[in-house]
Amino acid sequence: MRVLVVEDDEGIAQGLRAHLRQHGCVVDLAGTLAAAWAALQAEAFDLVLLDLGLPDGDGSTLLQRVRRQGGGRLPDPHTPILIMTARDEVASRIAALDMGADDYVAKPFDSDELAARMRAVRRRAAGRAQPQLQIGDIRIDPATRSVTRAGVPVELSAREWSLLLALAEVRPRVLSRQQLEERLYEWNGGPGSNAIEVHVHYLRRKLGDEVIRTLRGVGYFVPAEA
Ligand code: CA
Repeated sequence: MRVLVVEDDEGIAQGLRAHLRQHGCVVDLAGTLAAAWAALQAEAFDLVLLDLGLPDGDGSTLLQRVRRQGGGRLPDPHTPILIMTARDEVASRIAALDMGADDYVAKPFDSDELAARMRAVRRRAAGRAQPQLQIGDIRIDPATRSVTRAGVPVELSAREWSLLLALAEVRPRVLSRQQLEERLYEWNGGPGSNAIEVHVHYLRRKLGDEVIRTLRGVGYFVPAEA
């Protein structure tokens, strides 16, 4: 999951990044509304964590701006947005939810609860109610970051995991190599030229050839019936 953290407190931002990376997220940071808007116009994010008190304005203006976007251009108006507020800011929390925020966490928050809320928001955004994903005999559990094939645990690298989850969540939609790279790599940690192909190769070796299909010249997808 690629996440944009919009937070001006450097300590909180770095702490969040470290924690979310442990949960398998790819994390970019923005400390102002302007930086956040630029990031959202440049790349597709699976989720935005949005602080409301920012140096150049209120985070809710960014929220409204994203939700007002027309289709076809970045940012996607449906991008899940989770706001971060102080515990006593009930009024601004309510206002943000009514402006289209998907959920909120109150600071100081428990980082495991935050991760669970993020998974729930992603799940709803993908139109699923079940926490696990099933592809044939392969079972993916985002909460424990575990994968089994016919009941047998399969070890995946962090990148293989992110790639599999990205494709499984949008199944059977095709994701291009660029879209996958955006989900797997931060701005400054660019991939090698054939990195996605390499990860797909290993995933097929571990999970079988049928799980991830190639659409030549377009990208990769998990078929509706694997
Ligand atoms: Ca702040």
